[in-house]
Amino acid sequence: MPVKLKNFHEFMPEDVWKWKSIESKIDQVLALYNYQEIRLSILQDYDVLHKGITALMDDKEAFQAVQQVLNLSSPDNNISLLSLRPEGTISVLHHIAKIFKPQGTHRLYYHGPMFRKDKRQNPMEFYQLGVELLGSDSILSENEIISLGMKICTELGLKETKLELNSYGCQDCRPKFFNEMRKYLSEHQNEFCKSCYNDLMQNPLADTRCVQEHCLHTAFQGPRIQDFLCKKCHADFAKVKKIQANLANDYSVNHYLVKNFAYYNETVFDFVLEYQDKKLVLGGGGRYDHLSGMITGKKIPAVGFYLNLDIIFALMNQRDIFLSKREPFSVYVCSQSSDLEIMMLQISQELQTHNIITILSPSISDTETDIANATSFNCPVMIILRDENILDGKALIRNLSKGYQSYVPLNQIISEILIARKALQQE
Ligand SMILES: [Zn+2]
Ligand SMILES: [Zn+2]
Repeated sequence: MPVKLKNFHEFMPEDVWKWKSIESKIDQVLALYNYQEIRLSILQDYDVLHKGITALMDDKEAFQAVQQVLNLSSPDNNISLLSLRPEGTISVLHHIAKIFKPQGTHRLYYHGPMFRKDKRQNPMEFYQLGVELLGSDSILSENEIISLGMKICTELGLKETKLELNSYGCQDCRPKFFNEMRKYLSEHQNEFCKSCYNDLMQNPLADTRCVQEHCLHTAFQGPRIQDFLCKKCHADFAKVKKIQANLANDYSVNHYLVKNFAYYNETVFDFVLEYQDKKLVLGGGGRYDHLSGMITGKKIPAVGFYLNLDIIFALMNQRDIFLSKREPFSVYVCSQSSDLEIMMLQISQELQTHNIITILSPSISDTETDIANATSFNCPVMIILRDENILDGKALIRNLSKGYQSYVPLNQIISEILIARKALQQE
């Protein structure tokens, strides 16, 4: 594989149950807020995706954004026709635009792998939750979305998650800020690194992810969009802050909160956490009322957020937040004669009809090997079939967790196992 494996997710069983517990907690919280899951294709139409990503961007910014998308090339003509999804909002908008009726609202979410290229142009995979509330431009809807994001983070055990808010203003007030910011940039050109200077000139709200200490952008100085908001944007933002304060969500205003996508308007937000003296962004989002009109031709006011599930998983793992997995009850079935192999299968099938997990011995072995195998699979109980017992109409049941064994008539094997399961589950 000509790519770096570390950029891809391969989950082993010891991690899969943890991922499932994250997903089921997310499902539970979203169901309480009446959000429905949507499963989107990982493959996206190249043209549709590119049009969506570059909507509301200028040419240079659009070029950079498109560079990050992972495309599948056709071997015949070397033209990319399909892309791997880097996000889900664009697909969701296209689906909903087909059925959208004015005043209707749609609450949707999706989670799973997303793909893009990293800074070195290597393909990478990341896991993300996306939540979208479409069809409402009320302040209440963005508060619902923000509270929902905070709720999911705290329910996953990251209780110190904090909310950062900003407003990107509207089409009336934002250009004034952009002009002022560009003026500031040209006055301080030498104090910014070249890449920040160029990126911010294009889009003063761009997320440059600059790590160069000498770059003024890392010091977050210069004009603040807050000072340029029009009356309506100002009042709307004040309302969002008031509601969040009333909901007891721990928030602060971050005047330099930046986003990769240029399509946001008014409220934008991040969910953040202090980690080793640094701020870790767990996710975030904002209002994007104009994106649908640009890409689907249908105006749909919208607000949404994403959560970076890889970061959340790593934090939960590190803090040991996952409740330890309770091993399900299982029975190890073995025989010490090849003539009894069919009987092993029959007993196993009957146990499975009682929802009991069975593990069949892979070969004919001695008792010691069978016990070692059963122990390695964490089976508390094993059934051992031997010719001499079967001739007496019996099988040996060995209870490894209690440390005893008994010979049980063949027609009582199932009831004996059910009793053993009940006893263990009551502990
Ligand atoms: Zn405004
Ligand atoms: Zn910089």
